[in-house]
Amino acid sequence: MREISRESNTLELIASENFVSYPVLEMAGGVMTNKYAEGYPGARYYGGCEHVDEAENLARERAKKLFNCEYANVQPHSGSQANMAALMTFVNVGDTIMGLDLAHGGHLTHGSPVNFSGKLYNVVSYHVSKDTGRVNFDEVQKLAKEHKPKLIICGGSAYPRFIEFEQFHEIASENGAYLMADIAHPAGLVATGIHPSPMSYCDVITTTTHKTLRGPRGGMIMLGKDVENPWNIKAPKSGRIKMVSELLNSMVMPGIQGGPLMHIIAAKAVAFGEALKPEFNSYAQQIVNNAKAMANKLLTRDYKLVSGGTDTHVILIDLTNKGVSGKAAENALERAGITVNKNMVPFDQRSPFITSGIRVGTPAITTRGMAENEMNQIVDKIDQVISDIDNDITINRVKMEVKSLCESFPLYRELHD
Ligand SMILES: *Cc1c(COP(=O)(O)O)cnc(C)c1O
Repeated sequence: MREISRESNTLELIASENFVSYPVLEMAGGVMTNKYAEGYPGARYYGGCEHVDEAENLARERAKKLFNCEYANVQPHSGSQANMAALMTFVNVGDTIMGLDLAHGGHLTHGSPVNFSGKLYNVVSYHVSKDTGRVNFDEVQKLAKEHKPKLIICGGSAYPRFIEFEQFHEIASENGAYLMADIAHPAGLVATGIHPSPMSYCDVITTTTHKTLRGPRGGMIMLGKDVENPWNIKAPKSGRIKMVSELLNSMVMPGIQGGPLMHIIAAKAVAFGEALKPEFNSYAQQIVNNAKAMANKLLTRDYKLVSGGTDTHVILIDLTNKGVSGKAAENALERAGITVNKNMVPFDQRSPFITSGIRVGTPAITTRGMAENEMNQIVDKIDQVISDIDNDITINRVKMEVKSLCESFPLYRELHD
């Protein structure tokens, strides 16, 4: 109950979060949590799987329709597991991979030294360029030529612009590398055609299901086109060359996971069903309209935005000119009922624990029904707190205003009836 009240009475601006619908919430809290179902539909290691099979088939079919792809594995417990299974299918321990540096917007699983990806593989990180805040393709090309990576990962967690699949594809194919797209953040925008699709450019695509896609917390792996595996791995009995999809399936289970979370897979099916409806297109478009409105308003208040703005749901604010660290801003905003996360900005002088920036995103507040008008009000509130960061009176006043704004956009009415 205390968490419902927190979610209801604060402005959720964490770019990776969202609020699932009540049907998704119910399914994720449903009895399928009780069921063991190792294996895949029709080929399980346990009895009694008829209903969970139906749920998983539905989730897979809806995912394929949503992303216009030939294959989807909906079993990864999270985005990180999806990345682990994809990487372990395409590259061997010790091979070279390339990914966007964490401090420049990449994700832990794209080669950070503290993550499995940095421990198992030889990692070469690429960066964004200082003047544009966008991926530095001259550097990507130079590094790819020099290091000949087995695989390049594109996508990230704090990249406000469209992922440049086509440019990455060119460089990967020129240098004999596989290309993996991690669309964890913009998946909902990709599904609705607002963000370009990776399907025809990438060898494998991973995502989470809980960010802009507005499903339950989880992961997924996709193939635009399923093909025979290039490593010549054969099926034991028939000697037939396996498809990449088969290798991905067996890397997820038994490779890195045991029993799938069937309640979450069923909730994915519900969420994908929602995302296939026309209303979801307008929702996704509103996410981007809101982010652009917020970015424009921030610019008028002299905030520096990495890359100068946004194409998506993410805005990365560099607070250096405001004389406030990301950590201080996050703390003060939280006390005012506005939840954001501190974030490194490219070429940050401060440590990851302090940072010079904050990341904000619009998926969750858009789910509540807020639009451009509210975005302007929210930027005003953020600005008041950041410009008067040591003043408790300002913070408490903003907190009251936030609460009253939230009350006009109620969350989970079903839980209050
Ligand atoms: C959120 C995210 C993930 C993985 O998320 P989990 O927390 O493991 O579900 C992977 N890649 C990117 C780019 C992300 O933003």
